[in-house]
Amino acid sequence: MSGHGIGVLGVVGAGQMGGGIAQVAAQAGLDVRLADLDLAAAERGVRGVVAQLDRLVKKEKMTAEARDAVAARLRPVAGIADMGEADLVVEAVSENETVKLAIFRSLDQACRPGAILASNTSSISITRIAAATKRPDRVIGMHFMNPVPVMKLIEVIRGFRTSDETLGTTLALGEALGKTCVLASKDYPGFVVNRILMPYINEAFYVLDEGIGTAADIDTAMRLGTNVPMGPLTLADFIGLDTCLAIMEVLHQGLGDSKYRPSPLLRKYVEAGLLGRKTGRGVHDYSEGKA
Ligand code: NAD
Repeated sequence: MSGHGIGVLGVVGAGQMGGGIAQVAAQAGLDVRLADLDLAAAERGVRGVVAQLDRLVKKEKMTAEARDAVAARLRPVAGIADMGEADLVVEAVSENETVKLAIFRSLDQACRPGAILASNTSSISITRIAAATKRPDRVIGMHFMNPVPVMKLIEVIRGFRTSDETLGTTLALGEALGKTCVLASKDYPGFVVNRILMPYINEAFYVLDEGIGTAADIDTAMRLGTNVPMGPLTLADFIGLDTCLAIMEVLHQGLGDSKYRPSPLLRKYVEAGLLGRKTGRGVHDYSEGKA
């Protein structure tokens, strides 16, 4: 355990983000407990992280010994009840407020009083999440970027009652994970990153829906025209279209302006179960190496 005082990190949600958070934490020397809906899902999550580590070994970016040491720090657990040893827990389940509130209620009961409870939410109010617990001073937003091992940023969100001590520990942990933290000092829908990013992605769906450009042309136009590594529709597929829609709903409801209305086409993709890379198809097709 070092300066930030976090020796054991809990991660709830072993999807794209939870797996990445577990990986960077274990690589930074923390003991990790990873939970999902059940033990089998948590085990799948750990296997996914180990597969990522194997790729690093193959590329000679990590030794086999280092991989084994990192893997030994990753423990899948059956559920939130097993988070009792954690000094800080990062929740990274689907972007659904009802689900997150229930998880924070359970975490509040399962974790020792001093433990910090962080949410990786992209847009949902940290203040409301904190109010579901008896420790609102120890609840904070810790918004990692995707893919977590590659992206340098953590957006830290201070809820209305987050204490200075919780903020300090979280910033120190972020630094120990090798990340740069920016602080969203007001807990407004979408914070900084998604308040700006998601309306841009949403607009790309309107442009596609209105037939102004093909998906490929919209992506190429924005990639080469604004010098970003991915066009907005490819980025949306990468994030997950369900997550994009959920964030737009939070912006629309929370800010109450029609300019945040989710694109009907984005909604259709989600209704059709075409969620992006994680399901093999979104706007683009990722099946059998087509990406
Ligand atoms: P995902 O769909 O890949 O993973 C979500 C995981 O949560 C799944 O494994 C699911 O089984 C699990 N889950 C759902 N309900 C649960 C419950 N009640 N208990 C335990 N586990 C449960 O989604 P993701 O992309 O990893 O996103 C997770 C969170 O991270 C969301 O809040 C999202 O907004 C946020 N986020 C996503 C990105 C991104 O680019 N995808 C970036 C930053 C933040």
